[in-house]
Amino acid sequence: MKKITSTLIEEIKENQLAFFKNHKVKGVKIRIQHLKKLKKVLEQKEEAIFDALYQDLKKPIFESYTSELLMVQKELNLIINNLNEWAAPKRVDGSLINFPSQDYILSEPYGAVLLISPWNYPFQLAMIPFIGAIAAGNTTVIKPSESAPHTAQIIEDIVSEVFLPEWAKVIQGDASVGAALLKTQWDYIFYTGSTVVGKIVAKAAAEFLTPTTLELGGKSPCVVDGTAPIQKTARRIIWGKFLNCGQTCIAPDYVLVKEGHKNELVVAMIQEIKKAFGKDIQLSKDYGRIIHQKHFEKLVQDLDKQTLLYGGKQNKADLFFGPTLVDEPDLKSSLMVDEIFGPILPILSYETEADLDLILSKLKNPLAFYIFSSRKKFINTLVQLYTFGGGVINDSVIHFTNNKLPFGGIGNSGMGAYHGKYSFDVFTHAKPVVKRSFWFDLPQRYAPYPKSLRSLKFLLKKL
Ligand code: NAD
Repeated sequence: MKKITSTLIEEIKENQLAFFKNHKVKGVKIRIQHLKKLKKVLEQKEEAIFDALYQDLKKPIFESYTSELLMVQKELNLIINNLNEWAAPKRVDGSLINFPSQDYILSEPYGAVLLISPWNYPFQLAMIPFIGAIAAGNTTVIKPSESAPHTAQIIEDIVSEVFLPEWAKVIQGDASVGAALLKTQWDYIFYTGSTVVGKIVAKAAAEFLTPTTLELGGKSPCVVDGTAPIQKTARRIIWGKFLNCGQTCIAPDYVLVKEGHKNELVVAMIQEIKKAFGKDIQLSKDYGRIIHQKHFEKLVQDLDKQTLLYGGKQNKADLFFGPTLVDEPDLKSSLMVDEIFGPILPILSYETEADLDLILSKLKNPLAFYIFSSRKKFINTLVQLYTFGGGVINDSVIHFTNNKLPFGGIGNSGMGAYHGKYSFDVFTHAKPVVKRSFWFDLPQRYAPYPKSLRSLKFLLKKL
C-alpha cells in the first residue's frame, strides 16, 4: 500500500476534481447505474461484511444485518427509486417584480467530498453518507475508522469494485491521516465521530470556508415518569442501551426516573438483561465487545467509586464489559459529565419537574431524547422545552431506522442532518437561476429614480 502523504492526498483530490469537472458524475443515469451495481456487490459480499463486523466488534449477525447492512440497502433502494425526481430542475413561480421570468432551482453537486467515519457502526456510518454524496453527483474520499480495520478493508474492496478511484476512493489510516486529509481543500466535509474531533474538523474546514456536516455524540437522556408500562419500558431501554455493547451514539446515556418508580424499574431492567443475554453474558452470542483496550480502560475508570445496582463484570483480555447499572452517580463524576458510549447505565431519580430540569438543562443539546410516559401534557412539555437532535416517545434508538426522518444533532451533538432525501439535500447546492425575457421592463427600477416613493410603493404593493 502506498504511504499516505499530503502530496498523494492532493493528487487524489485533483484527479477527483478533474473527473468532476469533466461532467462525468453530473448525469443522473450514470449515478443510478453505479448505485445499482453497488447494491449488487453488497448482496454478493454480505457474508464478508458480517465477518468484518464480527472481527471488529463481535457484532451478532442479527445486529450486523438490521443495524448496518439493511440500513444501507434501504437507503440505496430509496435513493435509486427517487433520484430522477429529486435531481430534476424544479420550476418555481417567478417574482412579479421580475415579470416576465422563468425561475428554477438546479440541484448541483458540491464537487470533491471528504467523509470521515467512526468505528461503532463502521459500515453504515461510512456507506450511508457515501451513497448520499454519490447520489448528489459528487466525487468522494472516505476515511473510515482505523479502530474497525476489517470493516474499513471491506468498504475499500466494495468501493473500488464499483467506482473508479477518480470518482470514489477509500483512504485508510489513523487520526494522522485524518489530519492530513483536513489540510487539503475539499468542497464539502461530512464528519461522524466525537465532539472533540468534530471541533478540529470544524476549525480545519473554516480555514477554507468549506461547508460541513458534523454528526457528533453527547449524553442522551431517558426520562421515565412511571406512568407507562414498566416492564416494556425496561425492555426497550435495555435493548437500546446494550445494542452494540452500548457503543451507539444515540443509546440512552442515563435514565431519569420519577422517585417511587426506581426500584420497580431497576428490577424490571435486571430481568430484561437476563432474558436477553442469559446467565453467563460473556457466553451470549448476542452480546458484543468493547472496541479496544483504550476504550475499555475509559469505561473501567468511569465505574470508579460508583455504586452498582447490577453488573460490573469485566474481562479485559476478551474486551468483555457486562451490562452495568449504576445508582445515583454524582453529577460531577466522569460518568455524568462525558458521553459514556459503553454498557454502563446510570439510574438517577427525580422528585419534581424542577429537579428534572436541573439535569436536562445542564446536559443540553443531546443527540437523542427519550421519554417513557403516558401523560400527553408531560410529553409535549419535554419535547417542546428541550433542544435535541431527535427523539422517541416510549421507545429508544428506533428513530434512526426511518430514512424518511432527518438524522442529526444540534449544538454539541452536531450540525446538519442526513438519511434519504436529507442525504441528497446535504450534498447538494440548491442553485437558483432566473431567466428573464426582454419584452417588459419596470422603468422605475433604473436611475434616474422617481423623486417620490409613493407611486413605486403603490405599484410594488399591488405586485
Ligand atoms: P473519533 O472522533 O475518535 O474518530 C472518528 C474518525 O475521526 C476516525 O475515522 C478517526 O480516525 C478520525 N480522526 C480522529 N482524530 C482526527 C483528527 N485529529 N483529524 C481528523 N480525523 C481524525 O470518534 P470515534 O471514537 O470513532 O467515535 C465515537 C464518537 O462518535 C462518539 O462520541 C459517538 O457519539 C460519535 N458518533 C456519532 C454518531 C452520529 O451519527 N452523530 C454516530 C456514531 C458515533
